[in-house]
Amino acid sequence: MSQNETLFARAQRVIPGGVNSPVRAFRAVGGTPRFITRGEGACIVDADGKRYIDYIGSWGPMILGHGHPAVVEAVQKAVLDGFSFGAPTEREVELAEEILALVPSCEQIRLVSSGTEATMSAIRLARGATQRSKFIKFEGCYHGHTDALLVKAGSGLATFGHPTSAGVPEATAQHTIVLEYNNVAQLEEAFALHGAELACVIVEPIAGNMNFVRASVPFMTRMRELCRQHGALLVLDEVMTGFRVGLRSAQGVYADLIPGFVPDISVFGKVIGGGMPLAAFGASREIMRHLAPLGGVYQAGTLSGNPVATACGLATLREIKRPGFFDALSARTRRLVDGLKAVAAENGVPFSADSEGGMFGFFLLPELPQNYTTVMTTDKERFNRFFHAMLDAGVYLAPALYEAGFVSAAHTDADIDATLDAARRALR
Ligand code: PLP
Repeated sequence: MSQNETLFARAQRVIPGGVNSPVRAFRAVGGTPRFITRGEGACIVDADGKRYIDYIGSWGPMILGHGHPAVVEAVQKAVLDGFSFGAPTEREVELAEEILALVPSCEQIRLVSSGTEATMSAIRLARGATQRSKFIKFEGCYHGHTDALLVKAGSGLATFGHPTSAGVPEATAQHTIVLEYNNVAQLEEAFALHGAELACVIVEPIAGNMNFVRASVPFMTRMRELCRQHGALLVLDEVMTGFRVGLRSAQGVYADLIPGFVPDISVFGKVIGGGMPLAAFGASREIMRHLAPLGGVYQAGTLSGNPVATACGLATLREIKRPGFFDALSARTRRLVDGLKAVAAENGVPFSADSEGGMFGFFLLPELPQNYTTVMTTDKERFNRFFHAMLDAGVYLAPALYEAGFVSAAHTDADIDATLDAARRALR
C-alpha cells in the first residue's frame, strides 16, 4: 500500500469520507486522494514523496505559489506577536485599506474567515438594507454552503428553488430563485415576476465552479440595469476571481467592457488571505451602515480579522501589486491554455479553453460552454482518464471537470512545458 492509500484508509476511520471538504475525496474521478506533505513554489509533494506541478493552488489562494519568502516572513513575525486577541488590531485596518484602495466600488469592508461566511453575510446585508427576502442565484455558481445558497431551480420561474443538500428545509429555499447563467430572457422574466420582492442578485462574474464560464456582456449589463430599476442589489461573488483575474478583480474586467459597471456588494476570499482563513465583503458606506454595530444586520466572528491571517493576506496583496505582476501571470496562464489547445488540436481532441489573469478552465468540448447544462455535457470518462494520466505524469489538476484551474507566479516556463508534454502524452 502506498502512503497515500494508508493515510486515506486511516482518515476514513475518523473523518467522514476521509476528507474535510468533499471534492478532495476524488469521488468524481476515482482513485486515492493524494495527501500533501509540503508545497514548494509551483509544486506540491505527496506522502509518497511524489512531486506535482500544482494547478489547484489550494483552490485559488496560492497566487504566489507555496512558501513565498515575503509571506512566510510576515506570518512568522505575526505569530510571534500572538495568534488571536478578539480585539481590533492595526493590521486589520491596513488590510481593509489595501483592499479598498484596489476596489473603488467599496467604501468599507468587513473581514470574516471564509468565503461561505462572507457570501452568507452579504446576502443578509442585502436583505437588511432592502428589507426584502428573495434573491436570485444562478445554476452552476457556488457561493459556499449556507442553507439559502444550497438550492437548485424549481419547476418554473413562478416557483422557488429546492435544497440541493439534505438538512436544508424546503422553507429555507423558498426565497431563492435559481436561473440559468447567461440567460438574459430568463433574468428579465424573473424580474418581471418578482422584481419588487428581490433583495439582490448574487453572481460569480466568471463562474469558476462550473470550470470557467464568463458572464456575457449583455447578461451582466442587463443584470446591472434590472437590479437598479427594481431596487435590488447586485452582489458580485469574487471569492475566486478577486485579485486573481487581475488587480482590479473581475469587476475591473467588466468595468472595462461595460461603461460605469459597479456592483453594490462585493465578496472576496481566497487570495486576500494568501492561504490563511480570511474573506471579506464590502460595499458603499450607505449599505455597510446597516451592519452591526452601526445597524441592525448582525454579523460577528471570534477569529474575524485574525492577526496571522491578515499578515498573510497583506504580504500577498503587496506582492501582487508590484508593477507587471498580472501581465506576467496572465501571459504564463495564456501560454498554458494556448499550449493545451494546440496539443489537443494535434491529437484531434475536441477542446476549448479560456483564461483571465491567473485563472483558467479547459473543456473537452469543441466550444466554450455558456451555462452549467452545457458544461455537464462533457465526456466525464474521457476527462477522468485525462486527469489520471496527468496526475501520473506529475501534474495536479482539479479532480472534477467543473472546477477552474490556477497558475501562480511561481510557475515557470519549464513547468508549463512539462505540463504540455504530459498533456501531449495523455491525449495521444
Ligand atoms: N464563493 C465562491 C465563488 C467560491 O468559489 C467559494 C469556494 O470555493 C466560496 C464562495 C466559498 O468559500 P469558502 O470555501 O472559503 O467557504
